Amino acid sequence: MSKSRRPATVLAHAGRHPRENHGMVNPPVYHTSTALWPTVAAMDASHAGFEHGVYSYGRVGTPTSEAFEDAVTALEGGYGSVAVSSGLAAVNVALTAFAKAGDHVLITDSAYGPTRRYADTVLARFGVEVEYYDPLAGAGIEALFRGNTRLVYLESPGSLTFEVQDVPAIAAAARSRGILTALDNTWATPLGFDAFGHGVDVTVHAATKYMVGHSDAMMGIVGAREKPVWLKLKTFAVTSGHCAGPDDLYLAQRGLRTMGVRLRQHQENALEIARWLQARPEVARVLYPALPQDPGHALWRRDFTAASGLFAIVLQPASTTQVAAMLDGMELFQMGASWGGYESLILPTHPEKIRTATTWQAEGPGVRLHVGLEDPADLIADLEAGLDRLRAAA
Ligand SMILES: *Cc1c(COP(=O)(O)O)cnc(C)c1O
Repeated sequence: MSKSRRPATVLAHAGRHPRENHGMVNPPVYHTSTALWPTVAAMDASHAGFEHGVYSYGRVGTPTSEAFEDAVTALEGGYGSVAVSSGLAAVNVALTAFAKAGDHVLITDSAYGPTRRYADTVLARFGVEVEYYDPLAGAGIEALFRGNTRLVYLESPGSLTFEVQDVPAIAAAARSRGILTALDNTWATPLGFDAFGHGVDVTVHAATKYMVGHSDAMMGIVGAREKPVWLKLKTFAVTSGHCAGPDDLYLAQRGLRTMGVRLRQHQENALEIARWLQARPEVARVLYPALPQDPGHALWRRDFTAASGLFAIVLQPASTTQVAAMLDGMELFQMGASWGGYESLILPTHPEKIRTATTWQAEGPGVRLHVGLEDPADLIADLEAGLDRLRAAA
């Protein structure tokens, strides 16, 4: 795909080759474990590296995994990607591919909970020193660098709390010391934040969210800006047995085709609902970088090209009974983990329980919302009834 093409065009065309597939618009789905070699020479050649279009075994790569990887790579403008079975598997690959016992890894204190759990249990068990840092550290992160610092892990905006990180400043500080950076870019997707353009080495996406976009498959993908970094990711993923199933890869690739229009609508709906919530007396704060009142808004405007449909609110002081009264009765905002599908979701959050480098100060309980593609007026009516129940339960 030519570099000059715009993202919407890339989404429509990347990763498919109709002329090689009998003229069919979409690539076929290869269900396979085994790739057959015609000769011993071909067998030996297929083990030589991870050459594009050369296949040795289903786990190592197929035309179906390459089709999705190529599409994401074209969108991100990096060297290459590796698709794996879930977003958390992608986190695992990014955190583990470069680290060895005795290394020091810095992770933002705002990171996705299961990312922390992986780092605190598995990485720590293998002798990697994990340290959390203030998501707002910016260039000041340099003070935390040590001789054995190998990786800085970012997530912007942060899970549950939505702090926007100064990614270019952190990436530049790390680069000047030869330290790699990896960014969980699930919230913005490559359409909303150009990770490689802002100096990041490795991207992590829970493709389960907006790439798949329909809450019907799990998928993860890591991307690398440069070839040596991609080779490390690919080698680690293959060595560890990471791979994704063909139908799920196809669903993720299909989701990409409409991700641009979906994301625009998620943002439009989310902004309308965030503004409405801002004016409600039960709501102390709305944590959504696309709002001018958000503390991360200036950085978001500087670095991002879109917002998604996920944000949180901090309620005025309220009891758990009151929050349950609100959430238990929701009709459209259903309670469930994950997000990024067409449907709205809602969850109580407890960011103060997982922080270690910073403390999360909040007036009252936290609630995270994923604003789906429903009509915002219906969503607002659902929230209004919920806030009425919250007040009535006081
Ligand atoms: C959901 C999520 C993940 C993990 O993705 P799964 O596909 O659920 O394993 C990782 N990072 C972020 C920010 C997420 O929201």
